[in-house]
Amino acid sequence: MSGLAAKASNCMQCNVCGAACTAGPVNGLRPREVVQRAAAGDPGLADGPEPWKCVTCYACASQCRAGIDVAELFYELRNEAARRGRIPDAYRAVAKQVLASGCAFPVTRNTARMRQELGLPPFAVSPRGVEELNSLCRAAGLPDLDRHPEAPVDAGAPGKEA
Ligand code: SF4
Ligand code: SF4
Repeated sequence: MSGLAAKASNCMQCNVCGAACTAGPVNGLRPREVVQRAAAGDPGLADGPEPWKCVTCYACASQCRAGIDVAELFYELRNEAARRGRIPDAYRAVAKQVLASGCAFPVTRNTARMRQELGLPPFAVSPRGVEELNSLCRAAGLPDLDRHPEAPVDAGAPGKEA
């Protein structure tokens, strides 16, 4: 967390990021507070719902006059949470889907039909491609997706205040 704190320590608490945040009106995310907690070295920050509430739109980072890449801060918090095995079930399911098929979304019969109508070839990811994807993810440090934390991770449902 020291890297996060160093980046966040330049924060002026102006709340420009909060005003720009596209997630805030939906799920109550307050990036200014997250930056403040990161600057203070709050060890529990990665364990809460905040890292998973950000939709990484970069609206905050593009407007921060202190040059703090707030969106990257959220990525770092997620990485820290994942290292601790604290991955919300919805994210865990998508990661498993990607590792199993190479796709973030299931390829349905409807998808196949629409591709045919558009004159596109049938969709297929080669087994070798999936294998390489798994190797890359393992090399990048993807944690064990079957390791669950003792307490469930609250990812902050839409409309839920922080
Ligand atoms: S916009 Fe930048 S300086 Fe202002 S509160 Fe957000 S992170 Fe801090
Ligand atoms: S990147 Fe995250 S914190 Fe920044 S404005 Fe978008 S949703 Fe909000």
